[in-house]
Amino acid sequence: MRDAIIIGGGHNGLVCAFYLARAGLKVTVLERRGVVGGAAVTEEFHPGFRNSVASYTVSLLNPKVIHDMALAAHGLRIVERPLSNFLPLDDGRYLKLGAGKTVSEVAKFSQRDADRLADYSRHLDGAADLLRALVLQTPPNRVEGGWLAALPELIKAGRLGNRVRGMTLSAQRELLDLFTKSAGDYLDGWFKSTPIKAAYGFDSVVGNFASPYAPGSAYVLLHHVFGEVNGKKGAWGHAVGGMGAITQAMAKAAQKLGVEIRTDSAVAEVLLDQGRARGVVTAQGERLDARVVVSNLNPRLLYTKLIDQAALPADFLRRMQAWRCGSGTFRMNVALSELPSFSCLPGRKAAEHHGSGIIIAPSLQYMERAWMDARTHGWSREPIVEMLLPSTLDPSLAPPGQHVASLFCQHVAPTLPDGASWDDHRETVADLMIDTVERHAPGFKSSVLGRQIMSPLDLERTFGLVGGDIFHGALGLDQLFSARPMLGHADYRGPVPGLYTCGSGAHPGGGVTGAPGHNAAREILRDVARGRRLPGLR
Ligand SMILES: Cc1cc2nc3c(=O)[nH]c(=O)nc-3n(C[C@H](O)[C@H](O)[C@H](O)COP(=O)(O)OP(=O)(O)OC[C@H]3O[C@@H](n4cnc5c(N)ncnc54)[C@H](O)[C@@H]3O)c2cc1C
Repeated sequence: MRDAIIIGGGHNGLVCAFYLARAGLKVTVLERRGVVGGAAVTEEFHPGFRNSVASYTVSLLNPKVIHDMALAAHGLRIVERPLSNFLPLDDGRYLKLGAGKTVSEVAKFSQRDADRLADYSRHLDGAADLLRALVLQTPPNRVEGGWLAALPELIKAGRLGNRVRGMTLSAQRELLDLFTKSAGDYLDGWFKSTPIKAAYGFDSVVGNFASPYAPGSAYVLLHHVFGEVNGKKGAWGHAVGGMGAITQAMAKAAQKLGVEIRTDSAVAEVLLDQGRARGVVTAQGERLDARVVVSNLNPRLLYTKLIDQAALPADFLRRMQAWRCGSGTFRMNVALSELPSFSCLPGRKAAEHHGSGIIIAPSLQYMERAWMDARTHGWSREPIVEMLLPSTLDPSLAPPGQHVASLFCQHVAPTLPDGASWDDHRETVADLMIDTVERHAPGFKSSVLGRQIMSPLDLERTFGLVGGDIFHGALGLDQLFSARPMLGHADYRGPVPGLYTCGSGAHPGGGVTGAPGHNAAREILRDVARGRRLPGLR
């Protein structure tokens, strides 16, 4: 009999499979699609043009996972962007961030803000360091039972408390701000000029259907800075070959250890026997038994669609049904005959700004309006668009002389008002996104040779992302750390013995990190070692 079945071959499922197999377990991964990788895949979307379909830029992927899985030896190469960000502005000016230029660029708008940058980065990095230290840890969990059961969790909480106590008072204040405030209030407290607040505030609305002035959005900003590229903290880069290069390397690493990967194998049901998970039934009706079942899915999808609801505690089920999902994200890939030329910085020859994250959203107020409009209208008529041109760093993605663009757009409503369907509005909104780029880069529209469109509904249908939620559940304080996915289940174990979660709906949340997969495997192996919950497992 198999030791473990993993439902879903997203990157976290593959990471979990790798660590379980490395410990000697016999593992099968069942993936619904024809390809593994989940939201981190590369596909040809127009003849001769390939790109990352959903997730498109890399930073959060944990260095330990990269090392343990020997991803470089399995073909992964990550390159840094030549410039972090470029913001074309409505008044004909622009802001560049990165490449040693940030201070002089910000000084164009405010010398006072430029003088504050180093202090800001130091404070933000201090908070990000705490997050970095926590991503590979299992959060302190609320447990049932007496003091003996609670003791390990108390020790964990004590260690965390000690770590926070070891920070300076000023760093603790910053941490409190970042965990409780809105990104807008946080950034207003640091800076005066509009473009720098827009550049930094953009991270707070990525995958977060909210105003940058919504309390809690500062955490989403922080969530996007705890990563690194090739050892450079906070940097974002490109995986050569697209995000699929990461998951293809992961699949190879897992298969080398004997993991069986089956694609086109959707799981229809988790099998229970006397209250514990014993295996699965696929959509084709095949029954596969295993000693443990691990889910890479959004927890709401797992617990409301794949399992006998009568087997779940009523309070758990009620809360899982209300697990907050929905990102406000609209994703496009565009095949281009030539690079865009921006009115504020003309030229179609590849320059550093073409290799950056180009943010079309000039202010926090613009972002707030985008959210308010999407709330009532269904999508923002002045949307936030980040555009990357990955073929400038990776010519393998497009025919010679031509390019691909990733458009990552916010805000759109996960579900349209008045019962309207995304199937009827996908093309209109895609046109709007192209027009939004055209406003800053005349001629962009006529350079478009083909396009791939992912509305929230398409993200749900294609990848199983509930409400198009890119993180498998909103990154709000109510759904983070010891509360991810629920108080009492932050240790990757659900209420059904033998059923674990290893996807982004578990700590530390979404992004291509590999961390939930890594941590879940550790907890499963702990149970194996203790012989607890897993009778019969070697
Ligand atoms: C549009 C978009 C842009 C993003 N941009 C970035 C980015 O640039 N950088 C970044 O770090 N993160 C980004 N993210 C977030 C990141 O991609 C995700 O958080 C992460 O990939 C989720 O990984 P996962 O392994 O937890 O789950 P997933 O990747 O969602 O994998 C789950 C897998 O389960 C499969 N599955 C579903 N149902 C079943 C079933 N019944 N049976 C079998 N298999 C099933 C799915 O097909 C999928 O392969 C983005 C996400 C999206 C959607």
